[in-house]
Amino acid sequence: MSRSVLVTGGGRGIGLAVARAFADAGDKVAVTYRTSPPPDGLFGVRCDVTDQRSVDRAYDEVTAQHGPVQVLVSNAGITRDNLFLGMEPEDFDAVLDTNFGGGVRVTRRALLDMASARWGRVILIGSAAGMMGSAGVSNYAAAKSAMIGFARSLAHEVATRRVTVNVVAPGLIETDLVADLGDRRRAEILAATPIGRPGRPEEVAGIVRFLAGDEASYITGAVIPVSGGYGMGH
Ligand code: NDP
Repeated sequence: MSRSVLVTGGGRGIGLAVARAFADAGDKVAVTYRTSPPPDGLFGVRCDVTDQRSVDRAYDEVTAQHGPVQVLVSNAGITRDNLFLGMEPEDFDAVLDTNFGGGVRVTRRALLDMASARWGRVILIGSAAGMMGSAGVSNYAAAKSAMIGFARSLAHEVATRRVTVNVVAPGLIETDLVADLGDRRRAEILAATPIGRPGRPEEVAGIVRFLAGDEASYITGAVIPVSGGYGMGH
């Protein structure tokens, strides 16, 4: 059956791979974008996830086109890395507000529809950093670990409505987000990654689609790493 799927930040990177995976399987997919529209063939809606009014407008547009959202993938995210003591407070806040706040704003809208429909899937894109922490990413790690507590609490609240809430926690995935990581940091991460290479966005998309399917009906409140083994055991 074709479902209404919404992917935030789906114009490029992991979000685009996720959107394509659902579209290829026949779902009705909408993606939000802020600056990079999706390629032709995907329904794109402009949205800044840091702005509740923008989220509301985008959400209304998506439901008018495809019906209430049944699968939400909260993926939009940014980094502003720096050591905490050198970090501008605005950079700390922006990362919290985009990665965590953005997920909260979109989930608030979608969860209401899912609870009424008594079926739904919320998948939040977290990060291995949210469990491990690392120098220079206090803002990002805080946002990503906040997602875990958020997801697990919601999992309790909506389970009886047949709505599941899970987090997918990627390791190093080859996208624009990590293009400026620096050779040293990159080498450190890969040295701690048993599979020994960065992941591809499609490798994240596969597990997201699995979590949205009937086969995953008994999985909720889980944090699923897709990290080549980086950070395993956390
Ligand atoms: P990209 O930088 O390639 O893409 C980020 C996406 O987020 C873009 O689509 C961008 O939209 C969107 N976005 C950023 N800010 C906003 C905003 N304020 N409002 C709406 N959309 C916004 O990154 P990735 O694909 O790598 O990252 C996707 C997710 O995966 C993020 O949550 C990231 O934290 C997570 N992740 C990535 C890892 C990696 O190694 N790549 C590792 C672990 C987690 P636009 O282009 O239109 O501006």
